Amino acid sequence: MTIERTLTIIKPDAVAAGHVGDILKILESDGFWFAATRLVSLTKKEAEGFYAVHRSRPFFESLTTFMSSGPALVLVLERENAIARLREVMGATNPAQAAPGTIRKLFASNIEHNAIHGSDARETAAFEIGFFFPGIKLL
Ligand code: GDP
Repeated sequence: MTIERTLTIIKPDAVAAGHVGDILKILESDGFWFAATRLVSLTKKEAEGFYAVHRSRPFFESLTTFMSSGPALVLVLERENAIARLREVMGATNPAQAAPGTIRKLFASNIEHNAIHGSDARETAAFEIGFFFPGIKLL
């Protein structure tokens, strides 16, 4: 196992609903170290830049409007196998399909307002960490 870094965002729905503490507790209890953090309020343009890979998807406009709708908490997480493990702890994109006990099962409202983001691969983790924390060490 290698120590990895990944990027998570506690999305505006979960921040507005007061779930930040509960979500951080789940991550901390699972062995994630918080290597860096920022509270951000993304502009629409920044949200579009972050999700550029999804620009041709039908939900791009709605997703980027949502992601720029209020404060979000961004963290660089560090752990063995961090990228894959975070995806497990988050649960499926659609909370209706998320496993019991996952963050999305517990806190997501629907497939878009789904509480948390996590990088899905090494390359996306590198891009996403650099997007919010330019100059940080990637490991
Ligand atoms: P993730 O890696 O599990 O976050 O899922 P994706 O990379 O496929 O999608 C990025 C984000 O877009 C998701 O977390 C949702 O917030 C949103 N999203 C994904 N699929 C849909 C969809 O079918 N409809 C809407 N409205 N939003 C979606």
